Amino acid sequence: MIKKIEHIGIAVKSLEVQKVFDKILNNKAYKEEKVESEKVKAIFYQTGESKIELLESTDETGTIAKYIEKRGEGIHHIAFAVDNLLEEMKRLQSEGFEFIYPEPKRGADNQLINFIHPKFTHGVLIELCQEVNEL
Ligand code: ZN
Repeated sequence: MIKKIEHIGIAVKSLEVQKVFDKILNNKAYKEEKVESEKVKAIFYQTGESKIELLESTDETGTIAKYIEKRGEGIHHIAFAVDNLLEEMKRLQSEGFEFIYPEPKRGADNQLINFIHPKFTHGVLIELCQEVNEL
């Protein structure tokens, strides 16, 4: 089951822009985390039920660096919280969707994640995530 928008991921050249988002959201990020496997440093804001995730590449070969090179800074992905990631993957695969990773993967902020391949989603990168504490 898709429960809610868990977060919106925004690709930025530098997490310096945190200052801007602190003002917009009138809030401070509650967490900073490096995800080595994704070559990314992320900070998180709680905005009601959902979060905003700012993503900076730690390496010019990372997916965020490549994304910014191609499309510029901006909204990178939308993440939906699901109650059971494996079940949702099976459901969507049976509808013909493919995922970027063959298996759910440990993402930032205590989430198991996977991405629907963007060739199926009309240019919207969609992440599904399941809170690890709920496993
Ligand atoms: Zn995300």
